[in-house]
Amino acid sequence: MGRAVILGVWLVGLSAQAQPLQLPTANRGLFEQGGEERYFVGTVGKPWISGTFGCVRSGGWQMHEGIDIRCLQRDRRGEPTDPVLATADGTVAYISLRPSLSNYGNYLVLRHQVEGLEVYSLYAHLREVRGDLKVGQAVRAGEAVAVMGRTANTRETISKDRAHVHFELNLLLNERFAGWHKKTFPAQRNDHGGWNGQNLAAIDPRAIFLGQQEQGAKFSLLSFLQKQTELCRVLARKTDFPWRQRYAALVRPNPRAEKEGVAGYEIALNYNGVAFELIPRATSEIKGKARFQLLSVNEPEYQKNPGRRLIAKKGARWELTSHGLNLLELLTY
Ligand SMILES: [Zn+2]
Repeated sequence: MGRAVILGVWLVGLSAQAQPLQLPTANRGLFEQGGEERYFVGTVGKPWISGTFGCVRSGGWQMHEGIDIRCLQRDRRGEPTDPVLATADGTVAYISLRPSLSNYGNYLVLRHQVEGLEVYSLYAHLREVRGDLKVGQAVRAGEAVAVMGRTANTRETISKDRAHVHFELNLLLNERFAGWHKKTFPAQRNDHGGWNGQNLAAIDPRAIFLGQQEQGAKFSLLSFLQKQTELCRVLARKTDFPWRQRYAALVRPNPRAEKEGVAGYEIALNYNGVAFELIPRATSEIKGKARFQLLSVNEPEYQKNPGRRLIAKKGARWELTSHGLNLLELLTY
């Protein structure tokens, strides 16, 4: 029996290596034929698809930046008790145990390095976070870090039968977020420093888990990011900002700008505002003087996924909305 246990541990270790990101609970419905109903929790009265990532709410006009994973275990009072598991090796970045201060309720953020990319996982509506966890502490993939719950500060509370963990995978927009937020929205509170949801650029966990399942060790998070569908392309007259350093792997070389000097960056954004391709541009390649210019729009992608409202059509012309401009200001702050 001892040997079987050891073998089991070894196999778990192997699969952890092949798949850097693991499911954050014991629920495996995502990988089962027709298992979506058992995996995702939809919004009240809506099908499971409204618990997936994307523009899946309010007829596409509301973005859901994570996935809502159904609970499997309950106590005698019907409250969820599922352990919530670290999706990858990493360290604790943030713990918020003041549920009244966020629509996430109690939440936890972990920092990971995946293929050299800084990725942040977020677990929300928690009943509790493991008591000994502290910011900076190391955690292993699959380690229990919290217990599922249904905490939130929204007027509409989460009912027992909709108990779930809201799980996100994110890139970090800017470590100077708190200063930017104070300057840009002086009247608004920010109780979470840089760990405000607005500073996290979410990517689709379901697509990543299914991609890993299908491609095994060949799955690459970097190429997943590089293959995002473009919503629009903008030019920012900024030459140095945290994202281009933190996610340097997303920067494409441009010999002309390298020779003449970089005057700005052309940035491709997906529908959720993730800057997945950056190209340095020389002055001779830039027309116009605006800080941010909208260079092109992928209209079919906008029709499909308009929820972030980053761009809008005014008459025959597309322009960046205040949401789009705010995102670019924060990205390049
Ligand atoms: Zn959610």
